[in-house]
Amino acid sequence: DTITIQELANRMAERAVDVIKLLMQQGQMMKINDVIDADTAELIVAEMGHTPKRVSESDVEEGLVGQADRDEDLKPRAPVVTVMGHVDHGKTSLLDAIRKAKVVQGEAGGITQHIGAYQAQAPNGETITFIDTPGHAAFTSMRARGAKVTDIVILVVAADDGVMPQTIEAINHARAAGVPMIVAVNKIDKPDADPNRVRNDLLRYEVVTEAMGGDTQEVQVSALKHIGLDELLEAIQLQSEVLELKANPNRSAEGVLVEAQLDKGRGPVGTVLVQRGTLRVGDIVVAGAEWGKVRALINDKGENVKEAGPSTPVEVLGLNGTPEAGDLLAVVDSEARAREIADYRQRKRRERLQARGAGSRTTLEQMMSQIKEAGTKEFPLVVKADVQGSAEAITGALEALGNEEVAARVVLQGVGGITESDVALAQASDCIIVGFNVRANRQAREAAEREGIEIRYYNVIYDLVDDVKAALSGMLSPTL
Ligand code: GDP
Repeated sequence: DTITIQELANRMAERAVDVIKLLMQQGQMMKINDVIDADTAELIVAEMGHTPKRVSESDVEEGLVGQADRDEDLKPRAPVVTVMGHVDHGKTSLLDAIRKAKVVQGEAGGITQHIGAYQAQAPNGETITFIDTPGHAAFTSMRARGAKVTDIVILVVAADDGVMPQTIEAINHARAAGVPMIVAVNKIDKPDADPNRVRNDLLRYEVVTEAMGGDTQEVQVSALKHIGLDELLEAIQLQSEVLELKANPNRSAEGVLVEAQLDKGRGPVGTVLVQRGTLRVGDIVVAGAEWGKVRALINDKGENVKEAGPSTPVEVLGLNGTPEAGDLLAVVDSEARAREIADYRQRKRRERLQARGAGSRTTLEQMMSQIKEAGTKEFPLVVKADVQGSAEAITGALEALGNEEVAARVVLQGVGGITESDVALAQASDCIIVGFNVRANRQAREAAEREGIEIRYYNVIYDLVDDVKAALSGMLSPTL
């Protein structure tokens, strides 16, 4: 793994003489056609303010979009499921019921541990992985950090309560992430349970269940009475077959931290959901801006295991620091390399924090330049309005804009004030928020400021559409 100074400079679009100067400052005298090793090259690249990317680095930095696996190496893997829905509709109860009824006892007969995710068995014997933190906060924050964890969303709707605000938010989040939903109509044991009302409510949000002639699976359950659990697991299995989920187990592991904390006795502990490859004791890993040598792996039954393959959640011991939930974990080949990447990321993180303090991240202008750079075809927006009619009119007008190069896409169209959840969604989708005759509440304003999400307010639809139109055609003046 070597590169000439000239070639390195070319790839960065920098002058070779500047690279040579930098090397000199580090005590290395070199000429333009001399070769340097990959490690040195990477330091130079980072030093000059670029993102180092070599084959293994892009693997680490880009996780799933890194080195592609060959089709013949892909093996079926278990689906990863997240439970979402309105508060008190029974998300936690449902996860507990499945855990109690459907988790196969460990060899030690051990009690299942709360490690952030667990695996249950479907009636046909196949495995399903459940993320143990219900709700869209965890889902969205992970997505905001670039981690795609969930394959299927279970939308829990209480049969005695119907579709409520957070049900709608969950639908929007699942949709924005492009993740298929299965509706679990919960609490059907209750005398006032009315599944038909739930189906009809859902229609208004374009969730058409099978009973209504659509293709969204719906299962009636009672988390309390353990009714319909097998049917739910079967529905997940069916959906998973449609998705043809696969991963290559025979490569160095990559995964996502679903939980991480500093444990008094054990030090930093992170629960990793392996996404590709097989993670083993003794592996050297980078997890976010931390690194370590895997000292032990503990599964969801509290058992020590030697390895964990795709879709398996395990606790990882041996990290030098505590990463953050949503961080990616990847195996690298040496401690030196692990340290180097971790250092690099810590430096990047500091820079990012400073940059954030200095100004906002997602503004219309920045978005346009990003779109130009990336050749992105979509201009995503979150639209909130005072009444349904306005929201629909705005969405209709926005979606009619654009040309074949770039078009507006409304990620969420909602009624009511701008909330923290809207900001989280905007962050996850890297977009701005427009409010029509509505304001953001204090929490939302603070979150937007913290995350650098731009919120624009309008009270004339024409102005709103006009601004977006201007942005789309790249003619937006920098001071609006
Ligand atoms: P979450 O906020 O969505 O996680 O909801 P919880 O799981 O905490 O449940 C809220 C309440 O609904 C609790 O009092 C549960 O006991 C109750 N509950 C959950 N599932 C059922 C069910 O299937 N039937 C009945 N009758 N009550 C349920």
